[in-house]
Amino acid sequence: MGGAIIPIDAAALPVTDWGLTHSDIAYDVVPVWQGGFFRLDDYVARFIASVTTGRYDIGLDHAGICDALHRMVAASGLSDAYVAMVAARGRNPVQSSRDPRDCANHFYAWCVPYVHIVKPEIAAKGTSVWIAKSVRRIPADSVDPTVKNYHWGDFTSGLFEAKDRGFETTLLLDHAGHITEGPGFNVFAVFGSRVVTPDAGVLHGISRRTVLEMCSEAALQPEVRPLPLEEFWEADEVFLSSSGGGVIPVARVDDRHFSNGTAGPVATRLRALYFDWIMRPDHRTPVIRA
Ligand SMILES: *Cc1c(COP(=O)(O)O)cnc(C)c1O
Repeated sequence: MGGAIIPIDAAALPVTDWGLTHSDIAYDVVPVWQGGFFRLDDYVARFIASVTTGRYDIGLDHAGICDALHRMVAASGLSDAYVAMVAARGRNPVQSSRDPRDCANHFYAWCVPYVHIVKPEIAAKGTSVWIAKSVRRIPADSVDPTVKNYHWGDFTSGLFEAKDRGFETTLLLDHAGHITEGPGFNVFAVFGSRVVTPDAGVLHGISRRTVLEMCSEAALQPEVRPLPLEEFWEADEVFLSSSGGGVIPVARVDDRHFSNGTAGPVATRLRALYFDWIMRPDHRTPVIRA
């Protein structure tokens, strides 16, 4: 933070930072697995695209961001890590100003031990997902979902609904009744050897891209297109993708059981393949240890 490496408990934002007062932040998260970043350049490129779209000036280029991440992860001593990079709007030197151009934007990064968004024991057996009923995904023309952001009001409402009913996580529909995504993950439906994921209204997840690329190796046909809820119910299998745990099989959505209420064979195969790909030399950047 501010160029220094500090203990995470000491890392804090001023209360007047627009990052806090307006959730005005673009961020990204890259996994580190057994001492190596996975697809580091792809994550940093997506982050830079978000920073550009959101008009943040962080004073760092691709190489500068990578260097900061290497130094921080090395200092943390972690070998499996969740590594976040953040662009925040910052403070406006003129308290009364509502002009975002006046804010002092800033970059910071933080890392913690690797996060599985669903516990691996649960993921292996297939998790449970609740389709939010009281809330829809924020429309893509209101908050751009291709910019990874902190506008979690819709997801948090969905999570309360899900947790209150004993479900692990939530999935949001758009206003046309199509499947979008959930808090930190993309969604796939399997129909025979066809693997379908929504084309619009979602973050273009790097894990999603990895799944689409793995399909050719697994004799599966990827389809990126709208996924209406009625069609979704007819799927053979459902799974999630996230940098926090890779491919996560889903055994139940609402009261509907998929793949006999277990992790489906296609999702299980892709899950294993993901943890194989995350170690592949062509996608791996070993953390530079000073
Ligand atoms: C991070 C995130 C994803 C998953 O993206 P990955 O790059 O695969 O981790 C999907 N949807 C949302 C809203 C996210 O924040």
